[in-house]
Amino acid sequence: MMKPDVLIVGAGFAGAVSARALAEAGKKVVILERRSHIGGNAYDYPDENGVMRHEYGPHIFHTSSEKAVKFLSRFTGWYDYEHRVLGCIEGQLVPIPFNLTSIEKLFPGEKADHLKEVLISAYGMGQKIPILELRKSEDPEIRELAEYIFEHVFKYYTMKQWGYTAEEIDPAVTGRVPVLVSYDDRYFQDSFQKMPDQGFTAMFEKMLDHEAIEVHLNTEAMDHLCVDPEAGRVLLDGEDYDGIVIFTGLADQLLNYVNGDLPYRSLEFDVQSAEGQYQPVTTVNYPTPAELHPYTRITEYKNMMKNPPKEKTTVAVEYPYAYSRNGEKGTVPYYPVFTDASRAMYAAYTAMLEKVPNIYLLGRLAEYKYYNMDQITDAALALAEKLTEEK
Ligand code: FAD
Ligand code: UDP
Repeated sequence: MMKPDVLIVGAGFAGAVSARALAEAGKKVVILERRSHIGGNAYDYPDENGVMRHEYGPHIFHTSSEKAVKFLSRFTGWYDYEHRVLGCIEGQLVPIPFNLTSIEKLFPGEKADHLKEVLISAYGMGQKIPILELRKSEDPEIRELAEYIFEHVFKYYTMKQWGYTAEEIDPAVTGRVPVLVSYDDRYFQDSFQKMPDQGFTAMFEKMLDHEAIEVHLNTEAMDHLCVDPEAGRVLLDGEDYDGIVIFTGLADQLLNYVNGDLPYRSLEFDVQSAEGQYQPVTTVNYPTPAELHPYTRITEYKNMMKNPPKEKTTVAVEYPYAYSRNGEKGTVPYYPVFTDASRAMYAAYTAMLEKVPNIYLLGRLAEYKYYNMDQITDAALALAEKLTEEK
């Protein structure tokens, strides 16, 4: 391994974007990635059905950040794709986010017209209202509708997904999928909604193809890296290392779990092959009690493709689990689980790093943040800029 200016742990969005930006600023970069591939959780590949499968769950690119688009467009072309989700509610498939069409489908004519009017006059056409806010409305009719939406869209899905009630977790989590006072049935409303034309993995290959970047796959970073927080020291293969370390893995692993295991939510994907077309949209959500459907959503990957195969299809059924680093199920950490206790534990880990000036935590795992791909792209570019200015 060359002695790098910058050592990066992880070849997902956080690691790859910061690696490229720093390499272009003249730094020698080494990336250590424990998996056998680059791309992190956005890793995709064509499977035996000719379907572009997303190994770690469906990834849809959407953003309103011009900076992220400008940077990523250097490594990929794009095709248009707008994500649509239907929810299985009272035996029907209705648009999620819950919107005016959902009301029309679920309530009889006059009642639906009245409810739509009430919402439009209270909030205005085009507005987005987080469900927990809607439930606090002063208007008893709106509160009644909010309770219906909560019960049929959020209550059970959130319980299955997180193992906590919607009231127990950070309101920003359910706020990601607000109620829409509109007929816009897209899952996202960002100005840029496109997919990389050769897939995410191909985009990462180009991003990492730079003479100053060396990538080591199948390499567990903690076999090489050691942090001594008391002494403020980092050791790389047993020797003092005073270059920059960008760590995109788990903060608790970096510090030997001394404050306990940070809670993450995990998923298991039951991937199935089928003939023809499986469902009408890419993703169908099951916001139903676990006894009815123990999974949260089913995604048909080919519906995201520009030229999907006709004969065969591949679907993934998502089953949430608590993350367990030594367990049999749920061994991949996907989502930080935000509670007061987990935030306090995370803060205890970052406090330990205060005396280690050359380590930077970046990414969904390391920063314990619910980043989307565009947001982590922006954050990685910002960190690279800061590090370039400093040195
Ligand atoms: P990761 O992608 O997790 O990359 C971290 C990398 O570090 C991994 O490759 C890991 O193997 C490696 N690593 C960790 N520890 C070590 C170690 N000790 N040694 C060596 N290597 C290590 N975002 C969107 O914008 N749109 C979507 O539709 C979307 N869908 C999602 C669906 C699911 C099911 C999930 C879980 C996430 C989704 N996301 C989506 C979010 C997206 O996955 C993240 O924003 C993105 O992956 C964050 O990149 P990252 O580099 O921080 O983390
Ligand atoms: N959610 C829900 N019902 C749905 C869709 C979302 O309760 O039909 C809640 C749930 O708590 C979920 C959160 O909103 O975890 C965020 O949903 P999103 O689709 O953004 O989750 P992700 O794609 O990141 O898993």
